[in-house]
Amino acid sequence: MTTAVYPGSFDPITNGHIDVATRTAGLFEKLIVGVYETPNKKVLFSLEERLDMAKKALADLPNVEVKSFGGLSVDFAKKMKAHVMVRGLRVSADFEREFDMAMMNRKLDPELELVCFMASPNYQFLRSSLLKEVARLGGNIEELVPRHVAQALRKKEGAC
Ligand code: ADP
Repeated sequence: MTTAVYPGSFDPITNGHIDVATRTAGLFEKLIVGVYETPNKKVLFSLEERLDMAKKALADLPNVEVKSFGGLSVDFAKKMKAHVMVRGLRVSADFEREFDMAMMNRKLDPELELVCFMASPNYQFLRSSLLKEVARLGGNIEELVPRHVAQALRKKEGAC
């Protein structure tokens, strides 16, 4: 059985992430989405909120689990007995970042294989930071995130 992990901040999960997870779940027997506990950037949602939103968003995919993790993503993959790590690529800037990270991860764990998915055209421009900015300014985000995430964003931004 091939297990894949898909690590990220998911602050919050978007339709772009869901697209990558859905495509991965169709390729491998099991996918574990790893929600990073302490990303190296300011997050809007707590770990519990990010986990809950991701779990709800991926509930229809029977071979997908959502878990939190801290530390190195290669260690998380090892703990999950995963042989594949999945990432998504939107634009060339993503490629440069992912390439560096992939080289480092290969050094740390040469047995872990990286699989990158090209973002679907509809979500090429979609990143959580831009999404949060649009939500904060009252823009329409309905087609970019599941309904429960849009509600959580509106609630959070309303409280700010
Ligand atoms: P980071 O790991 O930088 O905190 P995220 O948690 O937002 O980024 O994303 C996790 C992974 O999902 C990264 O590989 C990122 O490139 C990918 N990703 C994010 N948004 C999209 C999208 N719209 N389409 C495809 N992949 C995406």
